[in-house]
Amino acid sequence: MSKLEEKAIKLLLKYEDKGLLQSELWHKLGVTSREGSRIAIKLEKKGIVKRVKEFAKDRWTRRLVPLIRQVTLGPIKGAPCPSCIYNNVCGKQGTVTPNTCIWIEEWVLSHYNPPENTEGTQA
Ligand code: SF4
Repeated sequence: MSKLEEKAIKLLLKYEDKGLLQSELWHKLGVTSREGSRIAIKLEKKGIVKRVKEFAKDRWTRRLVPLIRQVTLGPIKGAPCPSCIYNNVCGKQGTVTPNTCIWIEEWVLSHYNPPENTEGTQA
């Protein structure tokens, strides 16, 4: 993947929901429309963007809508698995399984915030 493609993806991820018009992306990347079109076609072939035909600014153009999403590691921060000695043998059908793992159970329970009881039930 070229540096320009990477830069285009980073820009497009800022507009995850509605995407960007091709011309807006070319402008932000500082490339010609010809060069930009090549990038867009490559990204579409790789399944990274969808090129949607759109009438904008008095002409037909394409909107580039990202098909990928940014991933944050926040929700799995502190999970025991990455540093676990059984990591390479643990699995659904392995000798060690998350279904019976006390470490993952403790981690999940310590990160689980049950919804507040709004029905006012008494113990
Ligand atoms: S589920 Fe438990 S045993 Fe499996 S990798 Fe995670 S911490 Fe280790």
